[in-house]
Amino acid sequence: MNGEATGLGRVADELNSWLEALRIALAAERASLWMRANQGTELSAVLCRPEGSEPPETEVLLQGHALGWVVSEGVSLKASRREIFRQAPEGWVVAAPLSDRSGERLGCVALEFAGVPRRDAARAVELGGSVASRLLSGAQATDEATRDLAKYEALYGTIQDLDRKLDLEELAAGICRRARSVSGARAALVASWEHARRRGSVISMDGDLPRSLAKAKLEGDSSYLGLALINATILPRDDLTVRPKFPLYVEGVDSGAGSAIIVPMIMGPDPIGALAVEYGRPREYREGDLERLKALALFVAPAFRNALEFGEVRALSVTDALTGLPNRRATERGLALTAVVAERTGGAFAVAMADVDRFKQLNDRYGHEAGDVVLQTVARLIREGLRPGDIAGRWGGEEFLMVLPGANAEDAARVIDRIRRRIGQASIAWEGRSISVTISAGVTAFPERIRNAAAAVASADAALYRAKRSGRNAVAVSDLRG
Ligand code: GH3
Ligand code: MG
Ligand code: MG
Repeated sequence: MNGEATGLGRVADELNSWLEALRIALAAERASLWMRANQGTELSAVLCRPEGSEPPETEVLLQGHALGWVVSEGVSLKASRREIFRQAPEGWVVAAPLSDRSGERLGCVALEFAGVPRRDAARAVELGGSVASRLLSGAQATDEATRDLAKYEALYGTIQDLDRKLDLEELAAGICRRARSVSGARAALVASWEHARRRGSVISMDGDLPRSLAKAKLEGDSSYLGLALINATILPRDDLTVRPKFPLYVEGVDSGAGSAIIVPMIMGPDPIGALAVEYGRPREYREGDLERLKALALFVAPAFRNALEFGEVRALSVTDALTGLPNRRATERGLALTAVVAERTGGAFAVAMADVDRFKQLNDRYGHEAGDVVLQTVARLIREGLRPGDIAGRWGGEEFLMVLPGANAEDAARVIDRIRRRIGQASIAWEGRSISVTISAGVTAFPERIRNAAAAVASADAALYRAKRSGRNAVAVSDLRG
């Protein structure tokens, strides 16, 4: 074994970790990494071999003329496992020549995957090829290798740390940190993407980036990030200082980057998001940085999709399907939280229960579908009539609960009465006809009118009952506490 190979031997443990990460990412049954020296036909080193890998494999490999060819001719090889081993299960071998810095050929490295599903073969070959050439030629120069290994370790850690995270923002924050550490970039950003609608949004950022990028919306082809996503392609940008400038992330925001790499996260045929890193100077990144980002995107894409889907399911579980408002459970939780804060801090809040007047008649006259449209309109007008920190939820059929933190009964009654008037004035189009509708509401407030928060709903309900009895299309305030 020559000196270079010894250098490789030293990093074998790390390579093993990395290889295992790669195996998991590719869903391969087995992955092994081989090296073969220039001299003779002997196999000089088996760097990484999973437990249970049988010695006969080594012998078979020795007979593999194809690898000798890689060594002697200095060409890369991508082949089906069966083309190299006489009796072998489905799989892929990727081999690349190994040269020292002066270009002298030292031998070859080969990555072998067994049991890779056929649909993933292309990924296996692509990734394996870049690993074989980059990782190992990089490892020859010890200083570079040490630097790179820290980045590879960061990549390997990704799988263990991030796989189980279901919260999208938490996951994206982890991906951002990883993206920076595997690439040495000054900043990183993760965005989600709805391919069918050609739009997405920034989920997380790490490093020094303009604040206006947080939660920014991505529009199709108006930036490099959008282009990379629309075209599902990796986009390295070597020099972002040339004019006229095209936006890197979103229109109108310039982070002052000199160069950048954007890598989409792809599941199935479409991108579901992207990670982007930026550097201060033009062409500051190295080839290995790009490779590791590609691998990172590949590793985290399944977890990212899970988190996206989990987020959707969670949103559905707290949202009323008809109106898009928080459902009863979410509204109760919002009320409870508001109440806890008020009781602990000596604060105030108001609660209002609104109910559509004679809604049964409306349903009977125009039909249930018209009734649904009316409910959607009422919900929208209620939401639009409140401030951002206020809560409006669908409590039941045609009943809506509103929570106004910090408001007293008088303030709340004024706000609710304005909503009542707007709803009464609205003309709701239905099959060429115009439907009008009114609501009644009851208002209460803590601590002004109720002793404790638990009494809020009953108190607002009682006031609502009085509003109905007074002739409807009215707002009533609950009695002062005695
Ligand atoms: P009041 O002025 O006293 O509130 O009269 P009302 O007819 O509104 O009161 P009631 O509670 O008797 O009727 C409410 C009706 O709301 C009964 C039900 O058919 C209807 N409803 C409940 N949920 C929905 C829904 O999701 N869609 C539609 N279209 N109707 C609904
Ligand atoms: Mg009702
Ligand atoms: Mg009603």
